[in-house]
Amino acid sequence: MIPGLGAFSLEGKTALVTGSSQGIGRTLVEGLAAAGASVVVHGRDAAKAARAAAEVAEATGVQTRSVTFDVTDPAAVDAGIAALEAESGPLDVLVNNAGIQRRAPIGEFSDADWDDLLATNLSSAFYLARRVSRGMVERGSGKIIQIGSVQSQLARPGIAPYSATKGAIVMLTKGLCADLAPHGIQANAIAPGYFATELTQALVRDEQFSSWVRGRTPAGRWGDTQDLVGALVFLASAASDFVNGQTLFVDGGMTAVV
Ligand code: NDP
Repeated sequence: MIPGLGAFSLEGKTALVTGSSQGIGRTLVEGLAAAGASVVVHGRDAAKAARAAAEVAEATGVQTRSVTFDVTDPAAVDAGIAALEAESGPLDVLVNNAGIQRRAPIGEFSDADWDDLLATNLSSAFYLARRVSRGMVERGSGKIIQIGSVQSQLARPGIAPYSATKGAIVMLTKGLCADLAPHGIQANAIAPGYFATELTQALVRDEQFSSWVRGRTPAGRWGDTQDLVGALVFLASAASDFVNGQTLFVDGGMTAVV
């Protein structure tokens, strides 16, 4: 039988989106809640995460919690997930979204910025996938979704280390597929184009750059964080059970056209 729209429902599922106290993650967590999932809002700032969770609960009427831990600290990740699973059961959906940006010409890029980028954008995804996949393997199902970037495929000056972390996310996703597909788990990535958030606020304010984004994007505009929700709900739901190891570019056509 052809599965109807019910295949996209997240009723009965529990989902964690890292870095969901603001920006892209904040919209994604609300999108998952709107599709029926019980969601967990996450960030470093406990008050901010709790506030965002309350707003999501009010907007969607869905059960919402918040957790705080630093995704760059493997012990904190393990403890945070253990506490979460003890309280609310195993996670069905993990979205590795927390990320940072640092900009400098390559000759001036500091060791500290390089280390921060690797730890926040790449190591975190490994720590979280390693920990959360254990429960998913036990149950024989689960969805792991990484938030990558068009910068995994398109380079720009000043952000070589950021691009390197996002390129590595593409291969981490394929590697997770290799390890976890036999256990009924799907690991995929979403690669956003340019979206106006705190991470990109300097770029949005720079009219020259902002108009370059509009011109370089076939859709002719910056992304709205809501543009990412459909792809996420698809990848988090049973509708994508035979899609694995893929990176889906949600970029208004940017990477399709020179
Ligand atoms: P924001 O800066 O708006 O939000 C980042 C979120 O990550 C915050 O909730 C922040 O929480 C959290 N976070 C950062 N570092 C840590 C940490 N060490 N431990 C725990 N939480 C952390 O970013 P965006 O929403 O713009 O970006 C989200 C993701 O999307 C990133 O991975 C980014 O690379 C990617 N992306 C963004 C694009 C864009 O145009 N905006 C384009 C392509 C990809 P807190 O404030 O509490 O620290």
